[in-house]
Amino acid sequence: MPNEQQVPSLVIRQVCDSIIDNLGAKSLRLLFAQSGLQRFYTGGDLPPADDTPSATVDELSHLFATAFRIFGDKGVKPILLRTGRNSLKHFRDHNKALSALAGAAFKVLPTDAKIKLVLSRSAKIAEDLLHTPHTTYDNAEGFFVEISSCPYCAGNQADHGVCYFPLGFYGEALRWATGATYPIDEVECIAAGGQVCRFRIGRAPEPS
Ligand SMILES: [Zn+2]
Repeated sequence: MPNEQQVPSLVIRQVCDSIIDNLGAKSLRLLFAQSGLQRFYTGGDLPPADDTPSATVDELSHLFATAFRIFGDKGVKPILLRTGRNSLKHFRDHNKALSALAGAAFKVLPTDAKIKLVLSRSAKIAEDLLHTPHTTYDNAEGFFVEISSCPYCAGNQADHGVCYFPLGFYGEALRWATGATYPIDEVECIAAGGQVCRFRIGRAPEPS
């Protein structure tokens, strides 16, 4: 199903910043040229880090798929993990529904409740940014985020999960809420034949 809704310019900017840091501005120019999305970046000014409507969700997916094609899975993975982490940090500081958690909620709630709250609030932000349904739930196996019609891997095929941005994003959310690092995996990915993209966070943190 085509998704012609537009994402805020900030989303594109966060991807740009990480690519420049990891691979340089030349690689970023190449990526936009190869994606046919030069109107967002030709080597001059970066897209503004604000709410201006920018590329459509489908164009964003195409940008990600092109990045995989030209930089390879190994090249893209650290960039998208980092973009995800930085994106969460940005919303932690600027989104009221998220930043408010750092007060009473994080002080008084038991860890499980904190995790559920931070996951549902972060998933809501991602849902609004990407115009894509996100579901969160938990069971004995862990805490889950499920994305249907996932824009991170649309148009991509792999033998493993390739949605690295959400791994960074939700991993950072957990670190912020609990001060610990939790194991997070993409246990089902549309690019690898799944029905949805599903992320599982373990019930216990990794030993520090
Ligand atoms: Zn996926």
